[in-house]
Amino acid sequence: MTKKIDVVIVGTGAAGLFCALHFPENVQVLMICKSDVDKSDSYLAQGGICMLRDEEDYQGYFDDTMRAGHYENDAASVEVMIRSSQKIAEQLMAFGVDFEQDGDGLVFTREGGHSRPRILFHKDCTGKEITSTLLENVRQRKNVQMMEHTMMLDIISDGKRCYGIVVQDSTGDVQVIQAKYTVFACGGLGGLYQHTTNYRHITGDAVAIAKKHGIALKHVGYVQIHPTTLYSEKPGRRFLISESVRGEGAVLLNKNKERFCDELLPRDVVTAAIHRQMEEDDMPFVWLSMEKIPEEEIRSHFPNILQQCLEEGYDPTRECIPVVPAQHYFMGGIQVNLSSRTSMEALYAIGETSCNGVHGKNRLASNSLLESLVFAERAAAEISGMVGEGHFADIAGLTDMRQYQDVNRLQEDYKKIVLDEIEKEC
Ligand SMILES: Cc1cc2nc3c(=O)[nH]c(=O)nc-3n(C[C@H](O)[C@H](O)[C@H](O)COP(=O)(O)OP(=O)(O)OC[C@H]3O[C@@H](n4cnc5c(N)ncnc54)[C@H](O)[C@@H]3O)c2cc1C
Repeated sequence: MTKKIDVVIVGTGAAGLFCALHFPENVQVLMICKSDVDKSDSYLAQGGICMLRDEEDYQGYFDDTMRAGHYENDAASVEVMIRSSQKIAEQLMAFGVDFEQDGDGLVFTREGGHSRPRILFHKDCTGKEITSTLLENVRQRKNVQMMEHTMMLDIISDGKRCYGIVVQDSTGDVQVIQAKYTVFACGGLGGLYQHTTNYRHITGDAVAIAKKHGIALKHVGYVQIHPTTLYSEKPGRRFLISESVRGEGAVLLNKNKERFCDELLPRDVVTAAIHRQMEEDDMPFVWLSMEKIPEEEIRSHFPNILQQCLEEGYDPTRECIPVVPAQHYFMGGIQVNLSSRTSMEALYAIGETSCNGVHGKNRLASNSLLESLVFAERAAAEISGMVGEGHFADIAGLTDMRQYQDVNRLQEDYKKIVLDEIEKEC
């Protein structure tokens, strides 16, 4: 079976949804996702989304991003991201996103690596607020269709241009979706790791498919470990204790309940300090104390974190909680330019699966939602300008469908491709 569509977007996280919303109504868009439409890492974002406060903040924000990224960031991408941030925040609020406000306007919080508070938030579930609002807006668009539980297995390509994708749909059938333009918005790769804050089905599929087709990748070895996830002996996804908890005053303690590092240094530095301390203490975790944060603030700003800790048997308003680093974010990915174009014609990549170099070697907290949205809009703008001239090619003979007979095996092969690539680059 073959479907034909102007644009296919693979992924329904913040990047994919924001991209879909920026196509005019005469462009037919199909979005697919591997699991339920709301099972994306974008929903899990807690801390918030950065916004340039004012012109005086520009240099500080730029320097903080570059310092966190060990100056391996692409300066032009960083500039585009920061300069677009106020417009993105305005667009989100116009779509209906509710950021924390007081009598003076928007309220900003702070996270590690930031020299001043510049993060917009909605309690401790900013990702859910943003992504569910974008999803509601997408559902109202007549030109956007969605297919859940539909997994991209491959692209269709002659080695030069992308003509669409091959998917396994929710009934188990393998089908071809021919598209004038294809956008990868497949998120990161945390599902490849035993300890991760990501959903298990987010496994870097687009990166494997890109590698298979010789599409340029960048910084694939740059994988971020988040310093503070709630320690648990249970298997499965690790629950994040947002950096904004430390931004609001929580401190890290060793087994004797003594502080051992500056909690607001960039993530990789704090992670290294925790690993050293765990080894010295011969403990599988360190402690995080929220004693300095007023109880009312914990209840109002961090209700989900409080709830999750209580469910695990810890009351952070009264006692320390055990925390441990876990895989969190992928700075590398499919190499793209400032319009999110990959090295293959008619193929774009946005969000965590792409790499425009904005994060360098280490992402600054709360820059990823922003980066996803800024460069998703840029992809939609470029594609919209060309889609009228795009064409459906004769794809007969471009792909051998027999290779998709054993989807489980294909998935395992893809996981190995990505893990090998990470190992090679580290
Ligand atoms: C716990 C947690 C907290 C975070 N907190 C913050 C924060 O406070 N601020 C911030 O800026 N960032 C935060 N992040 C990072 C941020 O949420 C993500 O980087 C960002 O949302 C990525 O968005 P995305 O759209 O690229 O991918 P995702 O939101 O992960 O979406 C990926 C989509 O791709 C689909 N997909 C994947 N593979 C396939 C396939 N083969 N076929 C079909 N569909 C596929 C998935 O089903 C999903 O719909 C956090 C991340 C986590 C995990």
